[in-house]
Amino acid sequence: MPAEAGRPEVFRDALLAAGVLLDGGGMGLMLRSGAFEDAARGVEMLMARQMAGDDAEVMMPPPAMPLRTLTRTGYMRSFPQLAGTISCFCGDEAGHRRLVASMEAGEDWTGQQEPSEVSMIPAACYLTYGQVAQRGPVAMDGKRVAVEAWCFRHEPSPDPCRMLMFRMRECVFYGTPDGAKAHRDQWLARMGEMAAMLQLPYTIEPANDPFFGRIGKIMARSQLELELKMELLIHVSDPVKPTACASVNLHLDSMGAKWGLETEDGAVAHTACGAYGIDRLTLALFRHHGPELSAWPAGVRAALWP
Ligand code: ATP
Ligand code: MG
Repeated sequence: MPAEAGRPEVFRDALLAAGVLLDGGGMGLMLRSGAFEDAARGVEMLMARQMAGDDAEVMMPPPAMPLRTLTRTGYMRSFPQLAGTISCFCGDEAGHRRLVASMEAGEDWTGQQEPSEVSMIPAACYLTYGQVAQRGPVAMDGKRVAVEAWCFRHEPSPDPCRMLMFRMRECVFYGTPDGAKAHRDQWLARMGEMAAMLQLPYTIEPANDPFFGRIGKIMARSQLELELKMELLIHVSDPVKPTACASVNLHLDSMGAKWGLETEDGAVAHTACGAYGIDRLTLALFRHHGPELSAWPAGVRAALWP
């Protein structure tokens, strides 16, 4: 399908014209068609098969989490611009009358809601640290958790690859520093194998997260220099600037320290996680193999729907 350098809306419009996605009424909020979902389910199952030998405990959350989990991860320090929390109306009947009157007058009524105890999930792995920590020290040979979540990041964009809500499938490792490095090496190989099975041209490069503010720039630079984050890059909505379709992150002991995670020898546990973007890999398939699932290469179809 077509894409143009610097103009991600060209690929978006091609997806809309082919009926792969439907206009959801706002940036980053496209509706997914049946064909898109068939492909996304195939991608999701392929990921599950690739991770089947991990001996990982499965933890599948609903698409929200406790606000205190967001607080504890430190997300608001690093990425306040991306987070989304949930507000609800908590008033009485008089309050409700004021709310409805504001709506009918075309005024902003959202201030009449109150913050709830619930937050959207920015990354699937955030739910897992507290769960694992409360069980006590992790065995010296480590522990793995498989988690998939609908994630929210407030980064509205005309680029169809940059959604407000998307599905992320991760395998998180907790254990020794060497174990975490081995997990990362496994994922470096695994991400390339995934792209090869889907017949998608790719590179794997060091990357950094969009840490907020001036101090954030320093953090981003050190993340890049230490190669703590590596991304699977594929040309999707832009033929010049590739899109991150998966990543593997080495957290060193930062998550372990925040969550009181230890290994059996009493040391702070190191963690690492490999993460696939289900929706982005699905878009990459449409970009490279076209809008018709039946016309996709036989090898790709066999990988998705064995
Ligand atoms: P980018 O650099 O493009 O912002 P990221 O580095 O923020 O991506 P990660 O935090 O590593 O992404 O998240 C893991 C995966 O989740 C990404 O590799 C990508 O496939 C997917 N992902 C991240 N943000 C989005 C988004 N806004 N819409 C769709 N998928 C996303
Ligand atoms: Mg991002």
